[in-house]
Amino acid sequence: MAVALIDRMSPNEHVKPVLAEAKSGAIRCPICDEGGEPHFLAGAHYVYRCTSCRTAFVAPMPDEAYLANFYSNYHVGEGEEGNYANESKMRRKHPVQVELVMKHTALRPGRLLDIGCGKGYFLKECADAGIECAGIELSDTAVRFARSSLGLDVIPGRLDQLGAPPVGAETKALSYSLYGGAGQFDTATMWGVIEHLRDPIRMLRATANVLKPGGKLFVQTGIGDDWLDRLLPGVNQWYDPPQHLFVFSANGMKRSAERTGFRLEHLDTWYDISRRRRYVRAIRNGVAACLLRGVAEVCRLPRPAFQMTKFPLGLSMIAVMTKLS
Ligand SMILES: [Zn+2]
Repeated sequence: MAVALIDRMSPNEHVKPVLAEAKSGAIRCPICDEGGEPHFLAGAHYVYRCTSCRTAFVAPMPDEAYLANFYSNYHVGEGEEGNYANESKMRRKHPVQVELVMKHTALRPGRLLDIGCGKGYFLKECADAGIECAGIELSDTAVRFARSSLGLDVIPGRLDQLGAPPVGAETKALSYSLYGGAGQFDTATMWGVIEHLRDPIRMLRATANVLKPGGKLFVQTGIGDDWLDRLLPGVNQWYDPPQHLFVFSANGMKRSAERTGFRLEHLDTWYDISRRRRYVRAIRNGVAACLLRGVAEVCRLPRPAFQMTKFPLGLSMIAVMTKLS
């Protein structure tokens, strides 16, 4: 019965048109370059899954102009909260993230770069802890807030697309070293960023370039192909294109590190900000997912109907990588 149910929830009618394209080998996994198979259709976007590393990804990828328009309302407010509704919830995580960085760098994080730093609240936590730090962020409004309201050293742009420094750039600032200067940082962080990128491998290589040999990179993102994803395929909150273009598997994260000049030191596949929250979340997820799965089976729900449910309790992973020399 389980196999029949999985069949019913696996590539459905909506992805049949792209099956031939996948079979022809045209769709390759951006993480490990193996083949991709159609997973499902989410809104207007096809989600594929790598047949090797099991990372899910959107194909074809939306172009830059489409994403720029999509993100035009992200971090848009000039105030503390802006229109980014999850901000206050996310800020509770920052002290724990600083602790994690301290733990894995033996209390010596050195010069830290936060990639996709948003309004800079994590960096503020770092600065308050005495860490020398800088950030880079795509949103101009978020950069303005980080600089003027929090007094942080943040530059606008994308690490994998930085050109010459703009006229008037503060040459003594730590962030100035990002313009062409390789190997300046001891630690880099990417909190909830990598799943939004069109080309995570390119960004990881750019990150390796600005880290010193032996430098640490912390990556936090949602996790797919875990027990929850197998119980409710493609239903958890991370499957949310075009906001999320990737749902990494644990194996996909390991391969990403290997391809970009890092060694994966540590991988926590059910991360939360405290031990209590981690167990509560796992139990709550398990019970809710079994109930949902039961309803789907009893009612013989087709996959598209099943995916109308957005399961908001997907698990997160944290990867700690070390840059090889
Ligand atoms: Zn792959």
